[in-house]
Amino acid sequence: MENPAYRPKWDHYYMAMAHMVAERSTCDRLRAGSVLVKDNRVIGTGYNGSPPGMEHCDDVGHLMHENHCIRTLHGEENTLLQAARLGIIADASTIYTTYSPCYHCLKKLIATGVKRIVAGQIYRDERVFTACEEAGVEFVHYTPDADWLDYLASMYKDMPREKIEEVKTANQISNTDKEYKKDA
Ligand SMILES: [Zn+2]
Ligand SMILES: [Zn+2]
Repeated sequence: MENPAYRPKWDHYYMAMAHMVAERSTCDRLRAGSVLVKDNRVIGTGYNGSPPGMEHCDDVGHLMHENHCIRTLHGEENTLLQAARLGIIADASTIYTTYSPCYHCLKKLIATGVKRIVAGQIYRDERVFTACEEAGVEFVHYTPDADWLDYLASMYKDMPREKIEEVKTANQISNTDKEYKKDA
């Protein structure tokens, strides 16, 4: 059966993006991702991983300190830092994050002016809820939408074989193109 046309609501749309972002994470203790949104526009994304140019846990192992891996920046930190690096103001924004923030990240989110946190799963520290209340930040525990999840799961599975071959061919062409430019 053809997929029905499905237009996700904003929370579903951004949470799906956060899950995709998490796939780039480089520390297998927890693979988390987040997306920062203001006025329904993405203004930053981040996953937990080492700062640019530094070695990754997945390549060289964790860097442990008091039972935590400190090699990586958390997804929320990287999201705020990406926005900062691009000169984008996070004030009055919403963060969509695959896990609820740790206390350290929460403080940074509050301090940069994030006003709404939408979290996929609750991670460890439940004190973040009271801290959000205290700081006037709305905390939402995300509820997935079954139809949207079905739709996401079918997006690639139901893609016709010819379409996949078409994408592969297009990639080969663009890769050849890149190699050509690199050699030039
Ligand atoms: Zn690690
Ligand atoms: Zn954190």
